Amino acid sequence: MSDNPQSVEVDVTLFGGGVAGLWLLNLLRKKGYRALLLESGNIGGGQTRYSQGIIHGGTKYALSGKLTDSSEAIAEMPAFWRSCLRGEGELDLSSVKLLSEFQYLWSTASITSRMAGFFASKMMRSRTAVLDESERPKLFQGKGFRGQVYRLDEPVLEIASLLAALSSSVLDNILRYDTDGLAITPGKIELQAEGRCLTINTRTIVLTAGKGNASLLKAMGRTTPAMQIRPLQMVMARGGLPADIYAHCLGASANPRITISSHLDAAGETVWYLGGQLAEEGVALSAEEQIAAAKEEIGSLFPWLDISNTEFAALPIDRAEIKQDDGSRPADAWAEMDEGVITAWPTKLAFAPRLANHIIDLLEQNQVQPGGGVMENIDWPLATMASLPWQEEERWS
Ligand code: FAD
Repeated sequence: MSDNPQSVEVDVTLFGGGVAGLWLLNLLRKKGYRALLLESGNIGGGQTRYSQGIIHGGTKYALSGKLTDSSEAIAEMPAFWRSCLRGEGELDLSSVKLLSEFQYLWSTASITSRMAGFFASKMMRSRTAVLDESERPKLFQGKGFRGQVYRLDEPVLEIASLLAALSSSVLDNILRYDTDGLAITPGKIELQAEGRCLTINTRTIVLTAGKGNASLLKAMGRTTPAMQIRPLQMVMARGGLPADIYAHCLGASANPRITISSHLDAAGETVWYLGGQLAEEGVALSAEEQIAAAKEEIGSLFPWLDISNTEFAALPIDRAEIKQDDGSRPADAWAEMDEGVITAWPTKLAFAPRLANHIIDLLEQNQVQPGGGVMENIDWPLATMASLPWQEEERWS
């Protein structure tokens, strides 16, 4: 290969550097595949940077009664990630910052008795522990809190450190390109960046571009697999809020009424990031209406908190997944291969390893083995890291 290559041969080309593409790229390189990832924006710049970082073990699925054949495997995701976080798993994530060892789940007084039976059930006993008052996060101690608090075996990760860890050893293989100059057919990709052109001859293409998968499929003249979008309107709040709250509130429906995760803004101040039913139901609201709804919800859940000086900002963001007949959340990660192209959506950040291993199986079943030979660095503009929404000061104004 010359210093300024016009073409390159690889085994696998991935589109999209969110958690799904990054996990897979690491695994492919470890297994000896010659693999490149093409990114049209920034690394992690899709849904991944908006994620709350919770490594779900499927409790949410169990609560909504959505137990499937894959439920047991999903229940193992926290342990799988924890081994990577200790540096003992399939990828070394020992540099990733753990925001919390556990996610908490609390019920308000009105539904505590109804849920008690469920939490006593065999299915939930192994996944949750009910906490005495002294064991609870401070927010749920005294001060008029009535209800139960459960501890879930679901760690919470700091997303910037996760993106850094997943990129560090493969950064040279993550190329940036301009979507305008793209020509894509199975086996051959032509792309442009900064006025330069590159041809990639590739045995397989993997689409892990989240919402971008639809336009990439269209560019190849394909209408399947069909994607669904499930929008959210998240809310951020900062000022006068307790740090380190990572908790779902159980409401009348099985979906959490609100999910709170805690992050730091650019100046190091605690930001509460609010999702759950609040974000699902808030999609039709204006930003002002959604912020008003969030204030009301915090006021009713934590009447003892003074939020008169708390700043709020609304964050609309779409989730992209394999289409379901009823539009509901898919039960698992999803990937399928069709004539040299694998299309994939992880459904959850937590399921990215499941997805990557499933894609490796698909490659092996289709006789796409590591081609051997050294993967040389390509002289081409590389993608850079996305910032986290709560650290972008302009979003707060
Ligand atoms: P994305 O993260 O969307 O990445 C797609 C990448 O592809 C981006 O980098 C984008 O720039 C790039 N791209 C787009 N178009 C193109 C193109 N044409 N060419 C090349 N590149 C392209 N899951 C959990 O497990 N735990 C959570 O706590 C959690 N919280 C969430 C909170 C919110 C608000 C949202 C929206 C989702 C949350 N999720 C969570 C789900 C999780 O974030 C997603 O399932 C996951 O991040 C999807 O990863 P991905 O790599 O498939 O897509």
